[in-house]
Amino acid sequence: MIAKQQNSAGGKTVCAIAARWTACALMALCLAAGSSLPARASAWTEGAKTMLFMRVDFSDMVGEPITVAAAQTLIGTDTNNFYIQNSYNKTSIAVTVTPTVLRMPQTAAYYGAGNHSLLLADARAAAKAEGYDTANYNLDLVAFNRISGFSWAGLASVGGKGAWLNGYFGLREAGHEVGHNYGLFHANLWQTTDNSVIGAGSSLDYGDPYDMMGGYNTTSAHHFNSWFKSKLVLPESKPLPAAAPIGFSSRTRFHPVACAL
Ligand SMILES: [Zn+2]
Repeated sequence: MIAKQQNSAGGKTVCAIAARWTACALMALCLAAGSSLPARASAWTEGAKTMLFMRVDFSDMVGEPITVAAAQTLIGTDTNNFYIQNSYNKTSIAVTVTPTVLRMPQTAAYYGAGNHSLLLADARAAAKAEGYDTANYNLDLVAFNRISGFSWAGLASVGGKGAWLNGYFGLREAGHEVGHNYGLFHANLWQTTDNSVIGAGSSLDYGDPYDMMGGYNTTSAHHFNSWFKSKLVLPESKPLPAAAPIGFSSRTRFHPVACAL
C-alpha cells in the first residue's frame, strides 16, 4: 500500500500526506527529499502570510468540495492558530477563499492520472480570471472532492508555494501540507530492532505520532517538535519549555504535556 508519493512540480519537491493512516502503510519514499535542509528562520517562515484558497470542481465531478465558511475556518482559524502557536507568534496565515467554485477545464479523471501539477496551474488560471491572482498571495491551495486517481489526501511543495487537498479538509491535512510549504519534511521515528532508544534500526517515515508532520491522527495539540520549530523561527524567539517531559521518541526532543496522546 502506498502511503504517499514524491513528485516534482515547478522544480520543487512535493510530498503527499497519506489518505490512510496505518503503521504498515508508512513508507520511506520521501526520504530523498531530506538531502536538502528544511527551511531556516527567514522571511519565508516568519511574518504574516496570505493564502489563496481555490475551490474547484470538474465536469465529471460536479459540486462544491467545501463551503466558503468551512474553508475560512479551516485555514483562517484552525491552521492560523496552529501556526501562531507553533511559531511563538512569529507567523500567521490570513486566507482568501474563492467565492465561486472554479470549474476546471479537464475532467477529474484526467487530473487523477498523474496530472496534479496541471490541476494546480489550471486552478490558478481560473482564479485569476475571477480576479484572484495567486501572485498577490504568499501561499495557495487547491481543494477538490476526492479524486480516486490520487493516492494521497494532500500534497504540497516543500519550502515553496502550492498545496492540494484531495477531499480531506481537516487541520491534520491542511496543517501538515502547509508545514511542507514552510519547508518542513516529515517527523520520523528511529525504529530500533532491539527496542532500545539508540540501537540499530531505521528511520520510519511519518513515524512520530506526536508531531503534525508525522502520520497519525494529529490535532491542534500535536505541535511541531522543537527542532522543527527552531527551523521556522529565530532561536532567540523560541523559548524552550522549562519543565516539559521528554517524549519517548528516540530523537532528543521536548513535548509539552498537551502533546500527549
Ligand atoms: Zn507530508
